[in-house]
Amino acid sequence: MKGNSAMRKIYRVKDFKIDESNMTLQETIFHNANGYIGVRGTLEEGCPDDMDTMRGTYLNGFYDIVPMKQAEKLCNLVEEKETIVNVADTQTLNLDFAGQHFSMFEGDVLECERMLDMEKGITRRKVKWLTGQNQEIDFDIRRMASFEDTSLFTIDYRFTSKSFSGEMKIRSSHKGLVKNYFNPRDPRLAGESFVHLEKKDALIAEGSSYLVSQTVRSKLQAASGVAHEIYVNGEIQPVMIMRYSPEEHRAEGSLRLELKPGDEVRIVKYSVFADSIRSADCLSRVRKGLAAVQENKIDYYYAKQKLYLEKFWQHSTMEIVGDDDLNASVCFNMYSLLQAAGSDGYSSIAAKGLSGEGYEGHYFWDTEMFMLPYFVLTNPEIAQKLLDYRYKTLDYARENAALLGHKRGALYPWRTINGQECSGYFPSGTAQYHIDGDISYAVVLYYIVTGDWEFIKEKGAEILLETGRLWMDVGNYAKGRFMINCVTGPDEYTCMVNNNYYTNAAAKYNLEWLTRFAEKFQAEQQEWEAFKARTGLTDIELEKMKQAAMDMYMPYDEKLGINPQDDSFLQKPVWDLSQTAEKDFPLLLHYHPLHLYRYQVCKQADTVLAHYLFPEYQDQETIRKSFLYYENITTHDSSLSTCVFSIIASMLGMVDKAYEYFGDSAKLDLMNTHKNTKDGIHAANMGGCYMAIVHGFAMLRIYEDYFSIAPVLPEAWEKYSFRFCYQTRLIQLRVTAKESSVELLEGSAVVMEFYGHRYDLQKGQRVIINQKDSQYAVGE
Ligand code: BGC
Repeated sequence: MKGNSAMRKIYRVKDFKIDESNMTLQETIFHNANGYIGVRGTLEEGCPDDMDTMRGTYLNGFYDIVPMKQAEKLCNLVEEKETIVNVADTQTLNLDFAGQHFSMFEGDVLECERMLDMEKGITRRKVKWLTGQNQEIDFDIRRMASFEDTSLFTIDYRFTSKSFSGEMKIRSSHKGLVKNYFNPRDPRLAGESFVHLEKKDALIAEGSSYLVSQTVRSKLQAASGVAHEIYVNGEIQPVMIMRYSPEEHRAEGSLRLELKPGDEVRIVKYSVFADSIRSADCLSRVRKGLAAVQENKIDYYYAKQKLYLEKFWQHSTMEIVGDDDLNASVCFNMYSLLQAAGSDGYSSIAAKGLSGEGYEGHYFWDTEMFMLPYFVLTNPEIAQKLLDYRYKTLDYARENAALLGHKRGALYPWRTINGQECSGYFPSGTAQYHIDGDISYAVVLYYIVTGDWEFIKEKGAEILLETGRLWMDVGNYAKGRFMINCVTGPDEYTCMVNNNYYTNAAAKYNLEWLTRFAEKFQAEQQEWEAFKARTGLTDIELEKMKQAAMDMYMPYDEKLGINPQDDSFLQKPVWDLSQTAEKDFPLLLHYHPLHLYRYQVCKQADTVLAHYLFPEYQDQETIRKSFLYYENITTHDSSLSTCVFSIIASMLGMVDKAYEYFGDSAKLDLMNTHKNTKDGIHAANMGGCYMAIVHGFAMLRIYEDYFSIAPVLPEAWEKYSFRFCYQTRLIQLRVTAKESSVELLEGSAVVMEFYGHRYDLQKGQRVIINQKDSQYAVGE
């Protein structure tokens, strides 16, 4: 598959053949989403029955519950989990030309082009098609998930008869009961087929269809409304009346047309969705929504979509010259993250975004550690909404902590949709207590980058307090140090250990920042007292937390001069990756977990990630040695890994190595390098790849009162540039082989450190440093 990477943000595949080998992959790449609705890029007309397809429409945060059988009934194990639900199918449109069905698998496809236009926010499929009687019809089908009205998904289906004459029939359907995809052979997908939806309500009004389905166990309702506008040669046709069939909970409408060569037909199919999590009466919500949409008409939404994306790209713009595939991938990654991000406080970002059912639509630490850092620098409002979601679910986290026997504090679920723990296998699930540190890290990051103190007072400080309490409850003093035992760090090939370096570092940071926020908060006495009363915080408790942060035990091995991943890690034999056959990766699919746990072998960055996030806890030399040590035993079987190694390599001045790690991670989805993009995008990796450029190659570091930047140019690139937000300012970096420059585009003067030199950057001012200086500044 070849994509273009011109300056315009368009990904185009020409001469495209849709077949078994790429069907599901293309469904992911060309999916449409807006943070609320996600529709996979399936074909309106469907495909042969024996072909693998994941025909899905998802609503962010909407879930059913399924039982999770535990082999042994141990106390307080999770026994049910939430799962993303494939809601109503409103995509289907079937066209018959003199009895012949239009399909990519019937007649003759002369040409086919698929396109993702990231400036207009639409996908497009263009097909030149011959009927069995050699009559040509050209199709141009556009789909959009609207950012202006996130409950709206549209199909703008146009075709022109080139040489067809005769009768044709349009059939459009709206199906209320659909099923989820499952694959019993892959632990990353649902393993069993469950019926998640049952019929609840239906209505046909003014020709439009409205269906309400209810989830079988969570008893949530999803409503969808469908309406059409049909034009022939620009003339609007009478409304296509939908008819409801109660047995199938399905509505269908049809229309016959007599066509001759040159005739142009346009079918606009509007679908509006709502759910009972967000609207008490979701049927009324959909009716109102669809009425407004029909009033405004599709061109209004196209114009708004373009405006929204203009603004988005203004802040998110990033360009790499010198590697077209990479530039296209980076652009695709940023756009996909935008499509994935829930920004209404009810939802977050699933591991696969809204592009598929992989990981059952669950939210993980992926959001806070890999994606939020991207949003906070480009779209801080979205970052805030992601944190709002965690604040909203704090009570569930408190309940989760209690279930695990903690007397105080909150433990966020390892994986979830509505806030409850959904991980079945606790050693590499619930035991990943670092999620608390990750969420508090994200709160602090949001504060440092935006300066939004109000958010901290209202929500952030409480999150840090409750997670801080959890550390105090799970940890204990031994030999005068504060220790955290029996937890799992980010590396899922090493479980249930004492003093995981990453976890201890994250807990320390959590407690330190809680103390700092408390000190600042105390200056606003009334509000501070109210906060203490609301949360039950006392001065003694705060003092203990401060002390625990200072006393936190951070494992260090004198002989190797590195931070061991945990207390027992270095006692284990080293897994020799050079002797492991290619076919045995990822190891998790070929070895029993216990076998993996007994070796020094890592699925992903763990201590190395801690070095990137908390560099102040170690000296450069320890970081360098740790990096080189973990390199040899890390499989990168998780897609959250190479980007982190790339950042650290950049930090250590190993630019070529940084580039090797980076190259793979950025292209993962667009080039399908892991061969599983068909199940959905790897959203965390997309954010990680952004971080590898911004915090790796460009070495951007943000502090409360200044930022520092010291970019290098990887040899394979001619130049690169990007923009970022810092405390209501917009800043642009440009790097070429000759020089690097930083310009303040919007906002008031700011202090920056550029290759170690301090500047007061004024609005409109651009500081340029030539390559000679930069070499000097970067020199180790
Ligand atoms: C990784 C986790 C990650 C999850 C979802 C797993 O393979 O090990 O760190 O959170 O995937 O992306």
